[in-house]
Parts: sequence; structure tokens; C-alpha cells
Amino acid sequence: MGNHLAHSGVLSEEELERYGVYPSKERLNEGPVAIIECIQAIPCDPCVHSCPQKAIAMEGLSSVPKLDVGKCIGCTLCIPDCPGQAIFVVDMTYSKDEASVSFPYEFLPIPKVGDRIEAVDREGKPRAKGRVIRVRSDTKTDRTVVLTIAVPKDIALEVRSMRRSRR
Ligand code: SF4
Ligand code: SF4
Repeated sequence: MGNHLAHSGVLSEEELERYGVYPSKERLNEGPVAIIECIQAIPCDPCVHSCPQKAIAMEGLSSVPKLDVGKCIGCTLCIPDCPGQAIFVVDMTYSKDEASVSFPYEFLPIPKVGDRIEAVDREGKPRAKGRVIRVRSDTKTDRTVVLTIAVPKDIALEVRSMRRSRR
């Protein structure tokens, strides 16, 4: 079986399923939770130390992080600490029709709450219109903000960033 990540830098849906990256549907429907899309055993562990709930564990520095979805409260604090930009938070309970998706963002100008945007998937393809609902700039790295956008629920697991809407 091939490794899509090694060839494209982007995880395929099949790899995400195979490595058990997604929390269960039941957990997703309970509230915000992190999704850690890190499947390569590299010497890296800032995510483990950034979580105040101690929800992320690794068996050794060069293993893959494991999330305890029962401990995770979806606070987004781990997102900017990941040098691989591999952590996202999805909240399927944001509203009746929308989910929120939080992700690291390093482009200028920094979007503002209320901005209308295009939600894009892991490959940068536009998937739906959305809007910015939160901008966290109180991160340790001054280049990285954590953006939270609201998007239609059915594409929340595919959306991983945004680009400005073309009018
Ligand atoms: S979202 Fe918050 S609680 Fe969940 S793993 Fe990240 S830092 Fe921990
Ligand atoms: S900080 Fe990011 S890249 Fe490093 S182990 Fe954690 S999830 Fe993977």
C-alpha cells in the first residue's frame, strides 16, 4: 500500500481512516475535539507538552502522538505549538447546520471575525463558503494565529484552511 503523504505532503482519506485519525462520530457529536493528522514517527513532541489536559501522549520521542478524546476539551492550545501544522479542532455542535474548524494560519493580513471566506481542503481546493468566527493571536509563535471558521457540517472533516473570498 502506498504512502500518499510521502508523495504529496497531504494525507489521503484512506490514510486518515487507516491510522484512526478521526475521533468516533459519537465523540465528534459531543463537542469540540482535536484531530491530530500526524502519522509519521519523527522526533518531535511539542504537542504533548502543550496540552493542559494531558490528552496527548507518545510512547517515545520518535513515535506517533495519540489523543485521548475523553480528556480533550477542544481548547485549541496545541494547534500553534505543532511545527508540522498537523493539529485541527472540529466542533460539530457549533450550530444546527454548521460546524467550526480551527487551524493554524500564517498569512497576512490576519483575517477578522466576521470575514466571509472560502473554506479549503487539505489540498487547498475550495469546498464551501464560510466565515471567520474567532481569531486567536495570543500564541507563543508570533507568526501563527489560530483561526476558527464556521462551515457546513457535512464538509467539516475535509476543511483544513481558508482563503479570501473572490467577489
Ligand atoms: S485541543 Fe486542548 S485539550 Fe485537546 S489536545 Fe489540544 S490542547 Fe489538549
Ligand atoms: S507537534 Fe505536531 S508534528 Fe510534532 S509530534 Fe505533535 S502533532 Fe506531530
